[in-house]
Amino acid sequence: MTEYDQIVVGAGISGMTAALLLAKQGHKVALLEAFPQLGPTVRGFSRKGVHFETGIHLIGGMGDGDPLDTYFKHLGLNADLEKISFSEQGCDCFRFEKQGTQVCLPHGYKRVRRTLYEKFPAEKVAIDQYLERIKTIFESSSFLNFNLDFSLDSLAHDETESLHDYLDSITDDQDLKDLLSCHSLLYGTPPEDAMLSTHALVAGSYFRSSHTIEGGGKTLVDVYQKQLKEHGVDIFCGKKAVRINHDETKNFKSLLLDDKSELRSKICIWSAHPAAMLNCVSEGAFRPVFRRRINELQETVSALILFGIANTPVEALHRRNIYLWTESDYSAVLSGKTEMDENAIFLSAGQTFARDGQQSVTAIMPYSFEAFSEWKDSTLRNRPQDYRNFKEKIMADFTKQVFKRCPELKDNVEFIDSATPLTLRDYCQSPYGSMYGAAHTVSQYNPLPATKIKGLLLTGQSIIAPGIMGAVVSAYLTCGFICGHEKIHEELKCIYNA
Ligand SMILES: Cc1cc2nc3c(=O)[nH]c(=O)nc-3n(C[C@H](O)[C@H](O)[C@H](O)COP(=O)(O)OP(=O)(O)OC[C@H]3O[C@@H](n4cnc5c(N)ncnc54)[C@H](O)[C@@H]3O)c2cc1C
Repeated sequence: MTEYDQIVVGAGISGMTAALLLAKQGHKVALLEAFPQLGPTVRGFSRKGVHFETGIHLIGGMGDGDPLDTYFKHLGLNADLEKISFSEQGCDCFRFEKQGTQVCLPHGYKRVRRTLYEKFPAEKVAIDQYLERIKTIFESSSFLNFNLDFSLDSLAHDETESLHDYLDSITDDQDLKDLLSCHSLLYGTPPEDAMLSTHALVAGSYFRSSHTIEGGGKTLVDVYQKQLKEHGVDIFCGKKAVRINHDETKNFKSLLLDDKSELRSKICIWSAHPAAMLNCVSEGAFRPVFRRRINELQETVSALILFGIANTPVEALHRRNIYLWTESDYSAVLSGKTEMDENAIFLSAGQTFARDGQQSVTAIMPYSFEAFSEWKDSTLRNRPQDYRNFKEKIMADFTKQVFKRCPELKDNVEFIDSATPLTLRDYCQSPYGSMYGAAHTVSQYNPLPATKIKGLLLTGQSIIAPGIMGAVVSAYLTCGFICGHEKIHEELKCIYNA
């Protein structure tokens, strides 16, 4: 049996990043993925010759010299990735539907500030305060600002301050607060619960730059796969970890897979949801309080998703996204229980066109898992007829909402496929189909990499922050405990300053 230096469980962005980083540092690594292919959350799918995005619509902080650009260079991915910049004139268009107005936030701090000043001229002081605070938090982390001395503490800002409380302290303008909270939809936690530091990491990355990749998520996964193979990582797809074995002194020993085979190593990195890890360890491995904290982690919201084909390019979604926003508040929207006509809708289009000019269009509406819980025991290929009837009805209602509230799409787009919270659960292997794993909140324990089983480390979107950048940062944090944080930080610093 091959003895690995590390086994990485889960081949999402964080797992692929961890495996590649370790392999590039000279380690013998195995990468395990339950799904038949790498990167199931982000690789997307094709229908009728059109590529549809699933887990990547826009990527923050990937512009030249930005943190993700540096990480991708360090991983050797950059040369094969062609970035597509979202519109510098305004890429996140927030439609205040009740007022009939729209604000398109650009990327680039100066442009963001100018746009906000124009729309909210009486709020310049609050706008300056907000942007400075986000920038300061973002740039004081050595995981995002490589010229700082390395510090583990730099990821832990004041974790008791919520976005909501912070915005309340700087302005009374509700429209401005709603707009400055729009990134909550991209990490799935309402402003009342969201840590300002998590918000700063996500929003700050989009204020720096907003891109997608030519070929979309599939290209990103293919580029990772090429590098993983070149660096000798043994990839096991379609194999699920079912048991984590440790010895009597709680040192990690081996991993048992669902085909009854066993993989051995000294270290195991778990990048799937932390609650799924608990199901694989013996009852006594962790203290009850740790089990309870992990089992009670608040999940981010799930969603309904419509996948459509536009026959001609959609001007309104050219290098930009649209957020349809009614009067409803974020807590209600991100509980997934808001009525459809009051609910938020995120609209995005693939920026890589099919040969005949067709374009994919995606509509996402936050939606609770509970509405589908009566079919929770069904699996991807075995959904009963009553589920299918319910799905058809709910998607017809959702489609009506999209065409009514975004008429630009009406005569051009045909929705041909859809996903429910159960689809998300089964494709992303996340409990309750959460879009972004466990929420990062001011009121709960937020898991860190180290566990009480020596050699078992956690990584992934539930550890630091969700999104492509959050997943990559989490992998670097976790691997730093193996390879040495300072060493990796120095390498990143050299690349950044080259
Ligand atoms: C609809 C949607 C839209 C999104 N849009 C964006 C966006 O525009 N921009 C952005 O930055 N982010 C976006 N995200 C979030 C982003 O995709 C995620 O935060 C990120 O991909 C998470 O990566 P990860 O590696 O932490 O987790 P995952 O991708 O969930 O990886 C974990 C992997 O572990 C595997 N696994 C689970 N259990 C086991 C087991 N027992 N054995 C083996 N393998 C196992 C899973 O199959 C999975 O592949 C979106 C997410 C969703 C769902």
